Amino acid sequence: MQAFTHTASPARIVFGRGTLESAADEVRRLGASRALVLSTPQQRGQAETLAASLGSLSADLFDGATMHTPVDVTMRAMAAFEKVGADCIVAIGGGSTTGLGKAIAARNGAPQLVIPTTYAGSEATPILGETENGVKTTRRGPEILPETVIYDPDLTTSLPRHLAVTSGLNAMAHAAEGVYARDGSPVYTLMALEGLRAFRDALPAIVDDPDNAEGRDGAVYGAWLCGTVLGGVGMSVHHKLCHTLGGSLDLPHADTHAILLPHTIAFIEETAPEALASVASLFGGRAGAGLYDFARSLGAPLRLADLGVTETQLDRMAELATANPYWSPRPLDRKSIRELLQRAWAGKRPD
Ligand code: NAD
Repeated sequence: MQAFTHTASPARIVFGRGTLESAADEVRRLGASRALVLSTPQQRGQAETLAASLGSLSADLFDGATMHTPVDVTMRAMAAFEKVGADCIVAIGGGSTTGLGKAIAARNGAPQLVIPTTYAGSEATPILGETENGVKTTRRGPEILPETVIYDPDLTTSLPRHLAVTSGLNAMAHAAEGVYARDGSPVYTLMALEGLRAFRDALPAIVDDPDNAEGRDGAVYGAWLCGTVLGGVGMSVHHKLCHTLGGSLDLPHADTHAILLPHTIAFIEETAPEALASVASLFGGRAGAGLYDFARSLGAPLRLADLGVTETQLDRMAELATANPYWSPRPLDRKSIRELLQRAWAGKRPD
């Protein structure tokens, strides 16, 4: 066995249908008594219900969370936090709302209770990406990792089918890259494979019937596993390409991950099949092609062209992605990344 270092996430995880009811107890467990509840404007209703259930433990509600965690929004939320004398954050929503909570905690050290409603996985990581003047920066730190996460699958029944599928594939990308991470460990590999298996079984069930309770449970369980892998090990070519395209062309986060995943995995599999053998066995014998077939069967978006990306933009994207690449089991050269992007642009099955 290869030598390894494993750093476990110190977060407290509360999982199960109906666990939202434990939110007040979890706030008290953090030693807090005045929560600032965070949401997007779209999820204000859900946040109001949560704030009502917290009673006097809720100091105020800030519903301004938005994509890319803009610093000016964080500053407004910080002002609301200070104005009401809040002492903790309760974030209910997807990665955008979680990101706002992390951005506040990164500045004032407030403890966070996060209640995810998508599968993006941000709640399980000590990573914060934020934007200022159009520039995105990413940082890591123990104060960024939420102290407590309540995973209540009931909260995902309202997730539109398209977001359920793309958000699930987004989470699966964390696990797929975790399997070949340079700083991986046997435990993170187990979590990654279990997360991929959970989504492989859950997403078709949810697509068939959005109310399928076992499917919802499995997807939320997978989200925790895949998010924990993202928080524990370094990512590679897939995340590099998603950040490059998403940041430069302002593409929707989950859709970009969903479209690129089969192609980035096939790219690694071509020269390092042994690194992905366990993923391949979950998806019919080939990791890249298998993930493509899986995504197509779910009705996931398959073509970058459908996100408005033009063919001429691909040259620049290949140049940017290879200028300052992440570590990868297969070195990134501009020509093969350009070919990868061409296949993802056209939605061609990786063979
Ligand atoms: P999101 O949080 O942007 O949500 C998309 C939309 O769906 C929002 O309007 C939201 O209110 C709505 N929504 C969320 N859950 C819903 C539900 N159950 N029912 C109905 N509507 C719902 O989307 P996301 O994909 O979860 O998050 C993407 C963001 O998260 C990106 O900015 C990405 O960079 C970030 N992210 C960060 C990390 C990290 O570790 N730092 C990890 C993954 C994602």
